Amino acid sequence: MPARVLDGNQIRDQILAELGAEVNSLAAAGIRPGLAAVLVGNNAASEVYVRNKIKACQTLGLHSEKITPPETITTSEMLDLVGGLNRRDEIDGILVQLPLPPQVDSKRVLLAVDPAKDVDGFHPYNVGCLVAGRPSLVACTPAGILEILKRSAIPIAGRRAVVLGRSDIVGKPVAMLLLHEHATVTICHSKTQNLAAVAREADILIAALGRPAMVTSGFIRPGATVIDVGINRLDESAAVERIFAARPEKIEQFRQKGSLLVGDVHPDHAAECAGAYTPVPGGVGPLTIAMLMSNTVRAARLRRGPASA
Ligand code: NDP
Repeated sequence: MPARVLDGNQIRDQILAELGAEVNSLAAAGIRPGLAAVLVGNNAASEVYVRNKIKACQTLGLHSEKITPPETITTSEMLDLVGGLNRRDEIDGILVQLPLPPQVDSKRVLLAVDPAKDVDGFHPYNVGCLVAGRPSLVACTPAGILEILKRSAIPIAGRRAVVLGRSDIVGKPVAMLLLHEHATVTICHSKTQNLAAVAREADILIAALGRPAMVTSGFIRPGATVIDVGINRLDESAAVERIFAARPEKIEQFRQKGSLLVGDVHPDHAAECAGAYTPVPGGVGPLTIAMLMSNTVRAARLRRGPASA
């Protein structure tokens, strides 16, 4: 049976439609959720991410602001900026786009964001709530992964989940969410031995490595659900030719565009071995912005909504 493709765009649209209804009901109470995105300097990838986030706010009818301090900003100036946003009532979500320039102490800046406005879910307070099983604002990509699994009716309770990667923004929080859904969870990293054999135990395999197409058929138990978090832009033909030796159309696509997006999972191997998998692009990526919108609306409701009084 061919593997089922878990369509992130479709699930994102469902979530945004549900959020639209919530935005309308908040509007009836005189509340318009607001997101402030802080984008330092001129990082091309960050500019695209922030543009997409602002566009999503506009589509959903949220208030949004893009704040663009110069590359030379200091830690103390960033702390003042974040402090100002913390104090503004109409701002419900504060997003500090990473990476920050090297002279800025990123950890201090993220710690300065009011946890009630921490729509990225990176503040230790929110991480602690997640670990304690009282999640409030949860990191967007992990929350999006859970939405994909649940809305695709993939059973989690009692299943073996293996998470490849232990980053603070993906691996650790998604492992915690899966644990709370009663999966038996293993977290792997660069020191894990026999990685492929551990991965093959998974009913649900989450790949968040940042290694293009590293997860091949030897990592995938036949019929497993494979969630590919990786977003890797290939811009060297040697890598494209190695990964897509059997797919001349991909090599042609690369020649025309000059780059190719690939996940951490080899797409052909996922299609051959998995029971269900998320494609790249069009899998986990779209959910990340949807969950940012969801967190912003939630932050507004929790802080200013009728039930918050
Ligand atoms: P990090 O680089 O922060 O973490 C990567 C993790 O993978 C680390 O824990 C590292 O182990 C582990 N790792 C790397 N190489 C190997 C290896 N050869 N064997 C075993 N483990 C390995 O990445 P992120 O978690 O931030 O991101 C992962 C991927 O997801 C990236 O491609 C990123 O672009 C993408 N991403 C996508 C998002 C989306 O919206 N779809 C959002 C966020 C990220 P160790 O800790 O030991 O170094």
